[in-house]
Amino acid sequence: MSSKMLGKLETVFSYTAHFILQSWPEKRPGILFLTDSGGRVINIIEMQVGQSWNPQELQLRKDSPPSGELNGYVMEAISTRQIVVQNDSNDTLVFGAFPLREQDGQIRAVVGMVTPRAEIDFDLTSYMRGLEPLIRMGYDAYIQHVTSQIVMDLTLHDTTRELLESLTSQISEIIQKGYCSAVRLSENGLLIPQEFVTTQEVDFGLIQITHLVSRFGVSPVTPAVLDNNRIVVVPISMNDSPLYALFLHLSPDEMDYKYDERDVAFLQEVSGKASCALWRAMLSDDLRREASKKDLLYQLMSKIQASIDVNDVLHEIVTSIPILYPYLSVELFLTVEPNATTPVKQLSFHEEEPSTSTKAYLEGRLVVDEITAGDHQVTVIAAPLLGKQGIYGVLQVTSDQLVSLSQHETNYIAILADTAGTAFENAQLYQQSRNLIRELRLINEMARQLNRSLNLKEILDFVTTMMRATFDAEFCAILNKTPGEDSFQVLSSSIPAYNGMSIEASEKPFQEILLNKQALLLAQPGAGPLPFSLMPCSSLMGVPLVVEGEVSGVLLVADSRYHFFSFDDYKLLEIFGQHASLAMTNAVLHNEMERMVITDNLTGLFTRRHLNERVRSSLEKDGYGSLILIDIDFFKTVNDTFGHQVGDEVLIQVSDLIRHSIRDTDIAARWGGEELAVYLPKVDKATAHTVAERIRQCVEQQTSPRVTISCGLAKWNKELDVNLSVEALFHQADVALYEAKNSGRNQVVLA
Ligand code: GH3
Ligand code: MG
Ligand code: MG
Repeated sequence: MSSKMLGKLETVFSYTAHFILQSWPEKRPGILFLTDSGGRVINIIEMQVGQSWNPQELQLRKDSPPSGELNGYVMEAISTRQIVVQNDSNDTLVFGAFPLREQDGQIRAVVGMVTPRAEIDFDLTSYMRGLEPLIRMGYDAYIQHVTSQIVMDLTLHDTTRELLESLTSQISEIIQKGYCSAVRLSENGLLIPQEFVTTQEVDFGLIQITHLVSRFGVSPVTPAVLDNNRIVVVPISMNDSPLYALFLHLSPDEMDYKYDERDVAFLQEVSGKASCALWRAMLSDDLRREASKKDLLYQLMSKIQASIDVNDVLHEIVTSIPILYPYLSVELFLTVEPNATTPVKQLSFHEEEPSTSTKAYLEGRLVVDEITAGDHQVTVIAAPLLGKQGIYGVLQVTSDQLVSLSQHETNYIAILADTAGTAFENAQLYQQSRNLIRELRLINEMARQLNRSLNLKEILDFVTTMMRATFDAEFCAILNKTPGEDSFQVLSSSIPAYNGMSIEASEKPFQEILLNKQALLLAQPGAGPLPFSLMPCSSLMGVPLVVEGEVSGVLLVADSRYHFFSFDDYKLLEIFGQHASLAMTNAVLHNEMERMVITDNLTGLFTRRHLNERVRSSLEKDGYGSLILIDIDFFKTVNDTFGHQVGDEVLIQVSDLIRHSIRDTDIAARWGGEELAVYLPKVDKATAHTVAERIRQCVEQQTSPRVTISCGLAKWNKELDVNLSVEALFHQADVALYEAKNSGRNQVVLA
């Protein structure tokens, strides 16, 4: 027997004893005592106030069985379950033992009496038989008293949880068997499993009440005694609206016990009386929660309205909801991916049966669904993030079980989603305007830089650097369409190893760019990179460089990360492309002009001015060089004989022969009318002489009509000719040429 039962018996007995003493004839001494079902004394009371009779031989002591004959009578009452009244062997005392029988027939206790035989002038047996209703009254009084005490105590608690904790622990203390739990009831009387209070230590792992609740399913809870008196349930309601269900339940290792009708009656009594206090506590909980929700909503609103960062707004929402609804999980679904650190999911429009979030988005209203997740049902609430200009996503709240949220609460979630939508919109607008400013700055800077340069290489490098800095992508490059061929070549790239690499124009991104002459934004949604041979990537942007209506090249930005580029990036690259196209066109035109300025029209050789400049720069930077001046012999005669036009053709023939006789680094120019010159930087006199001689022979043999030339050759050397001027060098060559003419022409003379 557990000692737990003792406490209760002792208390109940004190009430019972009160009634027994009331009925006991006045001025008769005696001892009233109580034993447990094992015959151990629990309580001893004197029948007469201040009585002098106190038979020492009885030796009644708490926590041990009575001694001698008395013990025998107690045990007899327990075993026979009958009232036992006997005189002692000395015939001086009368013993009486009244077994207290429980509903289940078991003996819980024995009420015993001992009186001096001489004082008793009535039949103790009849008296004892009459004790039954007194014990009952005592018990009722006890129940009345403790219930009032419990209910009085309840009013001290402010919160529902505190109140229920007090209520269940007090009930449990009085019942002394198993556990007492309280489970929240919904408006229609169904158990809300996640809102409970129990006297069972939660440390035990399996909480019996959560297990029990699942047995009740979806029918409203009514008062019931279940499982062979091992479970008692009584709903508490206020004005017909269900509040909580009180449970008494025995743990599996308490096999000996059952709940009896008095336990049930007690529970019902307490439930009835506690309803008002409970209702008040729940109401004030609601008010408090409402107030704190308003507070939180206000805080949230002011926070997100002050925020200009989309990520901050999302983060604020996701963290605040679990504070309000601890048993709900929050998810955010967005139509766009804002590179957020917040767990954000993408709305899906591909399923046959639209998900709750998709429905809320498409219908633009709050949707509540009950769906099966694995082996249990859950409630999903999805509210659209509504802004003034559109819906930005969906706030989805999921409970781990079926719950019915009140209209009030779903409204609250809707407001939160609305606020979030507006804030999200504001933040996004702000970010957009910020991006716009950044873009304008970039474009300005780019235009400025590009206008400064007419050097194609410089322009290409600048555009590459700009793309790299702006998009922060792993790879960016400028590719050039190889004229007349179906391929592109990397002109400039953020990864130097890629420079010069060639790629087929028939590859997908290029093909589309070529075909549409339009910018392209590719993102690979699934796993694995895009099929693009140049660079494995999952995101790619390409912009055509259109020069004179034709795609002459492509700006390319690529990254291995998914969805790396935004639509804004794409638009920016398009603008980059336009500027780059323009700058490149300018540079190409400039190169052409430059070429025109330094080239002689008739012969295609360089102009005298260009030659002078090249000679001057060679005199500055090289160590030595040679100059050949060439004059056609008797050219006047050619003109006179064949006409000026043929003269011109001969001049062209000679020029071509010269061009073919020299290297690319040598400079051939038209020096005067029919006078030509070749400058050979870093070429010594002997080599230059060979070159001049070769030219002379070619002209003699290959011109038609045949002409000959005279050449004057001058050389210079940095060590010997200090501060030699261009003019001085030309003069030397001119003198040599004059000598060649005078020495019979068709020859080379060294200065
Ligand atoms: P040499 O040099 O052997 O002393 O006799 P030459 O007849 O060539 O005399 P010179 O070098 O003084 O000749 C200059 C002539 O070359 C004058 C002009 O008729 C002719 N000439 C100069 N420029 C051109 C040109 O662009 N086209 C043609 N057809 N003739 C030109
Ligand atoms: Mg001449
Ligand atoms: Mg001449």
